[in-house]
Amino acid sequence: MFTDVADAPVDSGLDAELVADLHDAFGMMYAGSEWDSDDEDPVPRRTEGFDLPGLLSELAALVSMPSVPTKRRLFQPRTRTPGVFTSTVPLPGLPPVAAYLPFSPLPLLSRLRTFGVAGLSPVPSEIGAEACALHGWVSAGTDALACARACGAAWGVGGLADLRPAVRDGVVRTLATTLTSRHNAGCAWRVTPSPPELPTELRRMLHPLTSDSLAPLSRALAQQSLSGPAMPQWTSPASAAEIENLAMALRRSLPPLPPDPESENRTGPRRPEPKEELAAALALFGWFPYDPTFPTDHVLAHGTPTDIVSCRICRRRVGLWSFHTRTLDLSAAHVAWCPLRAGGWWRESALVAPRSAGILDPKALGEMLVVSEDGRPRKKWRRR
Ligand SMILES: [Zn+2]
Ligand SMILES: [Zn+2]
Repeated sequence: MFTDVADAPVDSGLDAELVADLHDAFGMMYAGSEWDSDDEDPVPRRTEGFDLPGLLSELAALVSMPSVPTKRRLFQPRTRTPGVFTSTVPLPGLPPVAAYLPFSPLPLLSRLRTFGVAGLSPVPSEIGAEACALHGWVSAGTDALACARACGAAWGVGGLADLRPAVRDGVVRTLATTLTSRHNAGCAWRVTPSPPELPTELRRMLHPLTSDSLAPLSRALAQQSLSGPAMPQWTSPASAAEIENLAMALRRSLPPLPPDPESENRTGPRRPEPKEELAAALALFGWFPYDPTFPTDHVLAHGTPTDIVSCRICRRRVGLWSFHTRTLDLSAAHVAWCPLRAGGWWRESALVAPRSAGILDPKALGEMLVVSEDGRPRKKWRRR
């Protein structure tokens, strides 16, 4: 019993103290009249009844180290990262490059950004910056690659352009098949690379093709970057009809601008102005107004005029003033590794489709739904 412990020889003063404290705790726990009877300790004991807060504080004092400051730690509840970041929301902080999170989009962006705006020298996409980043490689200087987890492996793609085409193709094929095995033994990237669909997930996360993201962005572009009289020459891989559909759809989802006296007498929905179409196209291809004196990665309520636009994913900046004699390609202006440079992704959005096509035909819906004849399928575990 406890008395045996109390009577046992003790090694040091600390042990004696500990034993006395334990005695206190047990005394409180059992409201111990029998404990106190044979106790000669003159220190008065608070043993009147069970006192839970008192007991807990005694126990806490027992286990706490005297040298540690008794600072209360607050554990914040974990907030879930939102699935998408619309144009009005700042981008989240990126994890460090060394983080081995092969299935997460934001760590992929951390690795891609090491390639900078210059990227790798023009190389086939099988060994381009995106393919390398998916396999855990980051830039280590011009055309040099190193393991993101610093397993020691390093290689390069320099000098490929000097090879004869037949030889070069063979080298590229070999490099592409060894993107995983080039990591040293024991490196996690050697076991599991990122899935090929991760750049698409990254694009959908940071550039959602919804009207609540594209409409504020197109309006900010129209007001901040296209307010001057001269319009840049531009082209995009999206068709003219798709851009027009998008401009009309975005107009419907925005509060109307002050009425234009010229169009007041017209009937029916008027066609988008050239400026409206360019604002919609710039928004679709992920371009944001960029103010060098106050750089942000999202749309501000009151942004200042600027004729620079920038991509918040690849950080390429484009001065619109330089496209009065040449043509701005809204897709090719992105850095080679930017997920907004790939082709055809904008057709995921119903906003570029003709309006009637966006509404689900009830007949088509009927064909898509299959309702079983006798209600729910019979299951052993299901109660009828
Ligand atoms: Zn490695
Ligand atoms: Zn970009």
